[in-house]
Amino acid sequence: MAVERTEFDLFKKDIAFFLPHPQRQLLKQLAELYEEVDRRLKAFASQTGIACLEGCGSCCEHFEPEILPVEALALANYLYRYGQLSGWEKLTLSRPEGSCPFYCAGSPTHCSVYPARPLVCRLFGFSGIYDKYGRVSYVSCKKMPLRLKAVFHKDDPLCPPVMAEFGLPLKALQPTADFKPLRKAVSQALVRLFWQSSFHPQDLGQAG
Ligand code: SF4
Ligand code: SF4
Repeated sequence: MAVERTEFDLFKKDIAFFLPHPQRQLLKQLAELYEEVDRRLKAFASQTGIACLEGCGSCCEHFEPEILPVEALALANYLYRYGQLSGWEKLTLSRPEGSCPFYCAGSPTHCSVYPARPLVCRLFGFSGIYDKYGRVSYVSCKKMPLRLKAVFHKDDPLCPPVMAEFGLPLKALQPTADFKPLRKAVSQALVRLFWQSSFHPQDLGQAG
């Protein structure tokens, strides 16, 4: 779950130019949200010592996130920017239904779209939930070398990011849209991206 400093700049700068202005704006807002999530979880990890087991990617292995269309568009845009459009069908066939097509056992992050991964993937293992008293309850993943089960006040500097704190602003980006399984959402986003790029066919050829 290491965070590369430059990944978000790339994410924001590399939005496909042919996307309409409202979609470009949505992607920028999403990138800013992801940036804030990663800043918070990085602070939590460095202050507490919480970290993933080295080389572990178990949480992605049999999991397919449910994501919003804007997150799917970010993934489709990432595939476009890094010249991976032609591999999508092969990726989906290589993994069983209900598991994430981007899982990549041979990669250090275990994710072939790591800089553009959805919100839930960023927060898994490093976020808390509100309990009935309004406190933040955190339980570390059982595979993590340092185990922690604790309750924090939300203003505590050690407090982990809270799922709802970022889930609500994410939903606010597309209030009327539904969350869908990643492979379905990305397939739909790719169809839309191909359609929009059809006015600039030479640019799809240059992607990457
Ligand atoms: S959150 Fe847990 S299962 Fe997932 S990579 Fe980290 S240690 Fe492994
Ligand atoms: S998008 Fe990446 S981080 Fe998220 S489930 Fe798939 S492989 Fe894991």
